[in-house]
Amino acid sequence: MTVNGNGNDTGAATTEDLEPVEDFRARARTWLAGNMPPLGDGWNDRSDERRERERELQGRLWAGGFAGICFPKEYGGLGLTTDHQRAFTAESAPYDMPFSLNVPTLGILAATLVEFGTHEQKLRHLPPILRGEELWVQFLSEPSGGSDLAGCLTRADRDGDVFILNGSKIWSSAAYASDWAMCLARTNWDVPKHRGLTMFIMKIHQPGVTVEQIRQVDGTLEFCQEFFDDVPIPASDVVGEVDDGWTVASRLLVHERLAVGGGSPYTSGASASHDSGGADSTMVDAAREAGREADPHVRRLVAEAHVRQLVAGQLVRRITGGMATGAMPPPAGSIIKLFGATNVMRRTEIGLEIAGGSVVAWPEGDPGVGAQLGANSLSRQGVSLGGGSNEIQRNIISERVLGMPREAAADREIPYREVRRGGSGR
Ligand SMILES: Cc1cc2nc3c(=O)[nH]c(=O)nc-3n(C[C@H](O)[C@H](O)[C@H](O)COP(=O)(O)OP(=O)(O)OC[C@H]3O[C@@H](n4cnc5c(N)ncnc54)[C@H](O)[C@@H]3O)c2cc1C
Repeated sequence: MTVNGNGNDTGAATTEDLEPVEDFRARARTWLAGNMPPLGDGWNDRSDERRERERELQGRLWAGGFAGICFPKEYGGLGLTTDHQRAFTAESAPYDMPFSLNVPTLGILAATLVEFGTHEQKLRHLPPILRGEELWVQFLSEPSGGSDLAGCLTRADRDGDVFILNGSKIWSSAAYASDWAMCLARTNWDVPKHRGLTMFIMKIHQPGVTVEQIRQVDGTLEFCQEFFDDVPIPASDVVGEVDDGWTVASRLLVHERLAVGGGSPYTSGASASHDSGGADSTMVDAAREAGREADPHVRRLVAEAHVRQLVAGQLVRRITGGMATGAMPPPAGSIIKLFGATNVMRRTEIGLEIAGGSVVAWPEGDPGVGAQLGANSLSRQGVSLGGGSNEIQRNIISERVLGMPREAAADREIPYREVRRGGSGR
């Protein structure tokens, strides 16, 4: 058995059977040079055209035999190790890659499906995901609140072989352009809140599901809210056990924290999503553009940004390594997530300070690096909220990694029906 960074069986027999990492690296280098386009501007563009382009790039990885490096062979992956994945990611740095498929589709939802899906569910969905044909999204947060995930009010009532869903989810990233979702819903109101939830596979575009896009401060329309009106979901699309959705959701969140922090074995490509503050060359370019590369204070800032990136990379290796050997518990993924989020905030501040006024005004038709840093700064807080806020990560680290007492919660042990709450639901 071969385990990946999460301690899961990747489907490979033994490490001795596997292609040596350096052979794999050399083969990947040749293939990438012949098949993937060079990395240019627009790789982090969040337009619909870019999303379609990334589906196509994922299809190229599949056709070339380099998709799903750590996914089980049985479901279309390569069944290789995190070292193979790291080698491929390093070699792919000069090339355009399907970056946005990493989070949430590959790193979070496909990863959760590998762990909890039935054989049929995995056969049905994992190969199309690895071909770039299925984009997935998470339907977790609700208008009544996202941090208290177990306080979910969307309901699923069983009717023979189907469950009927009613309720609303919100802040789902790019749901309008995605195909499938994992949706958490309440199936039992007579037990405490964590024990009455079920996770479902949901087809997004079907009668009864209304998807509305939400305009953000930077003008983009990626976030969505969904409304469910008597949406039928086959019982065969339950992920894990009925009423045990909290177990699935908790693991999903571990995958999310790893993926957002840059430590998932299931993601491919060097432009990690947690680095929205810009790669180090961006800081140097910003200093040059502002004519401040000789300024000692600016040089210190560039160095700080660089050191932060080095620490982030080392932290990912240390925590994922610790999790793989069992030396660290799965919630340790929150350490990566928290560092990644605070790192983005600090690097954004550094970028703004170096670039100065060019983040808000630039010559017509010539936006430059400063403009890019300015645009990135508008969404800098996203990573401090998505996947659970910084405060929630700190709670998890203190309680589940350091063993400190649990936060008091008046609603933890009483049937959810009796919990006093605002909003809808019964
Ligand atoms: C970029 C981005 C992408 C996202 N994508 C998705 C997605 O695809 N699918 C999805 O379902 N959701 C998504 N979300 C939503 C995200 O999961 C929620 O924003 C998050 O869980 C926080 O929930 P909330 O916004 O409702 O804030 P609330 O839960 O209302 O919290 C408000 C504030 O109170 C603090 N707080 C709450 N409880 C505690 C506590 N116990 N102790 C200390 N402080 C506390 C929080 O830290 C926060 O600062 C995304 C969010 C972002 C920013």
